[in-house]
Amino acid sequence: MAFTTLNPATGAVEAEFEPHTPEQVEERLTRAAETFASYRRTSFAERAGWMRAAADLYDAEQPEIARVLTTEMGKTYGSAKAEVAKCAMCMRWYADRAEALLAVEPVETSAGRAYVRYEPLGPVLAVMPWNFPLWQVIRFAAPALMAGNVGLLKHASNVPQSALLIEDLFRRAGFPEGAFSTLLVPAGAVASIIEDDRVAAVTLTGSEAAGRSVAAAAGRALKKCVLELGGSDPFVVLPSADLDRAVPVAVTARVQNNGQSCIAAKRFIVVDAVRDRFVPRFVEAMAALVVGDPFDPATDVGPLVSRAQRDEVAAQVDDARAKGAVVACGGEPVPGEGWYYRPTVLTGVTPGMRAYDEEVFGPVAVVEPAADVDEAIALANRTSFGLGASVWAEDPAEQQRGIEELEAGMVFVNAMVVSSPELPFGGIKRSGFGRELSEAGIKEFCNAKAVRVA
Ligand code: NAP
Repeated sequence: MAFTTLNPATGAVEAEFEPHTPEQVEERLTRAAETFASYRRTSFAERAGWMRAAADLYDAEQPEIARVLTTEMGKTYGSAKAEVAKCAMCMRWYADRAEALLAVEPVETSAGRAYVRYEPLGPVLAVMPWNFPLWQVIRFAAPALMAGNVGLLKHASNVPQSALLIEDLFRRAGFPEGAFSTLLVPAGAVASIIEDDRVAAVTLTGSEAAGRSVAAAAGRALKKCVLELGGSDPFVVLPSADLDRAVPVAVTARVQNNGQSCIAAKRFIVVDAVRDRFVPRFVEAMAALVVGDPFDPATDVGPLVSRAQRDEVAAQVDDARAKGAVVACGGEPVPGEGWYYRPTVLTGVTPGMRAYDEEVFGPVAVVEPAADVDEAIALANRTSFGLGASVWAEDPAEQQRGIEELEAGMVFVNAMVVSSPELPFGGIKRSGFGRELSEAGIKEFCNAKAVRVA
């Protein structure tokens, strides 16, 4: 089966690529293993030089690269350019800091000299999703390559142009052949690649179902695995919240990337004390969003990635409506060409409705009322996910309750949850395990080798 790029704004075929043959995959695995043997001995300065050259290419070619993202998965052109810029920033961040982050750590011992040194593991397989086609890959690849690992990318089947483009940019930046290779293979090929002796470890960003099968394959092969899975992040509005700040951020936090972000705020839990002032303004702002051509600078929300994804979101909303939820705005696809869905706010959503129990990957906000802070936190934690959480409060005591009691890998106070190189990124519960970015991320795929010289 060929890998096809369908433009979500038009439904038209943009490009098609044949999958790699078993021989081509074999050649890439061999090259990765051979390259690792020499690449691991390159200096931090050499790797940093190539990484900075890659960042420069991303900056220089930003408009063309962003165009690929928008036509391939539908994000607005402005957000695509921002994604390209963020990748360049992350590459420079690790180029500047990897040596210090992985410096030898002396350890006090009772006898002899002791220290910990961080060594790369080998070829790491990255199984990645389509929603941030560059950023998801670069936040793995920048630290992994700076640590001396080599990368193998199995990207989502609907973004083959992005997958090939990333490989090409690393090659043109000067990285040795085989330091980063794209494998155009279907999901069904992943387990056998994980089991291959030449592959040292695997990282997956994607759905729970994919997480289960990648973790199972890694378990069978006894290989290190990092999982960044779904989220149903709460946006918790407490009694002392500054609503003038909270409302516009709530809208952005839900509809960023056309509503298709793992860390998008998906459940808006609003205490009674502010509900009458928050909800109408939130609904009004969501209803006012401009839906349309992702290349039009006036557009706030572009199309969903595929017809199937648009229909899935519609089915989740229809299920809630049929079971008694109220559609405060939106609640339907936009007729005509492209896979657009109107920004939607649902109230009166209760357990047993799909929109309550599942992650909704589109511009649909679920508002849940809470009597007080206790109930708001209990509702926020009543989910199988634990990725991010955003809590809104001016009162330090309310802020502290959110920080301490929300069950999530990341809590942002008076801000939406975002990823950046400075902070560890990842979740708990069924949002996965392990961390990306920051010092934690670069150490995930390192051997912390303990050394004692008696
Ligand atoms: P997906 O279907 O799980 O796909 C993600 C990647 O996994 C793709 O490369 C896919 O390949 C592959 N894959 C799917 N099933 C697999 C299997 N059984 N074995 C091995 N690989 C498999 O997810 P998606 O629909 O593209 O992305 C949306 C999901 O990703 C959402 O749940 C979102 O929350 C999550 N996400 C999480 C994060 C995070 O950092 N926590 C970030 C972004 C997105 P094919 O395309 O070939 O099927």
